[in-house]
Amino acid sequence: LTQLYAPLHFLGFVYREIKHSLADMERMFGLLDAGAEVDDAPAAIPLATREASVRFEHVDFGYDANRKILHDVSFEIPAGHTVAVVGASGAGKSTLARLLFRFYDVTAGTIRINGTDIRALTQDSLRRHIGIVPQDTVLFNDSIYYNIAYGAPDASRDAVIDAARSAHIHAFVSSLPDGYDTAVGERGLKLSGGEKQRVAIARTILKNPPILIFDEATSALDSHTEKAIQRELAEISANRTTLIIAHRLSTVVHAHEILVMEGGRIIERGTHAALLSRNGRYAQMWALQQEGDSAVTQASEQV
Ligand code: ADP
Ligand code: MG
Repeated sequence: LTQLYAPLHFLGFVYREIKHSLADMERMFGLLDAGAEVDDAPAAIPLATREASVRFEHVDFGYDANRKILHDVSFEIPAGHTVAVVGASGAGKSTLARLLFRFYDVTAGTIRINGTDIRALTQDSLRRHIGIVPQDTVLFNDSIYYNIAYGAPDASRDAVIDAARSAHIHAFVSSLPDGYDTAVGERGLKLSGGEKQRVAIARTILKNPPILIFDEATSALDSHTEKAIQRELAEISANRTTLIIAHRLSTVVHAHEILVMEGGRIIERGTHAALLSRNGRYAQMWALQQEGDSAVTQASEQV
């Protein structure tokens, strides 16, 4: 029986690992219906850098051949800089993140990291260089510890706890009867949106990648939690190449450059101040959001 058990146990382990990573990727990007597969080039080289500059050069892309989503998108994130992308839902913002992570290849144009076309890199090395805090974090049905350590399998317990501290989730985890061994996810303890996002932030801090993507990472939170998390994100993105896809414009005020997207095109770009004085789409969005914020403040003051 033990002879049978060992391989079965191993298969179970492999199955669990595969299931975990697939669920992670799919959920992170809402890719459940995606059939696209991207292969390593025969002579793919590994990316190995701590300072990554990212460049989109005249990128076109469509999920289907007959419907183009991105049109001639060009921008650069110099190493250590932050570029923010804003625009209505469906504008193509998350698609940029999916292309940089290389879930799909561009239809035309090129995405480069430090001058190298990402299609010439091994996917594994590319993805190890990128950390993502998604809009809606889905946790694995496993311990909090597993959920934080995922993506950095060699991390020590101390490093995991340090990352949890930096993400301001350590005190909460320590207060649970089973601490870091607490089971979470659909079949375990249900965490709030803010707690799940902190787990995702801790995971990203532990992974310590040179490139960060925040995809509307704080949109689901109340404004108090959102402010706290924004401070954490600002801390971890300092000196890292960061792409912020922002729902709330307060997140992007300090970005080196802001891209305004509409219908898969960049229609305006510049710093917050430059875009405001331009008095175009961004200025309009900003004014609307200020109105919205004061309406919310007034409503909560009346309660
Ligand atoms: P945003 O993040 O700005 O809300 P997305 O980049 O997610 O926008 O989507 C841009 C467009 O691409 C939308 O019209 C959306 O319907 C379409 N789209 C997104 N994902 C897929 C997909 N997997 N297959 C086909 N179309 C998609
Ligand atoms: Mg999106």
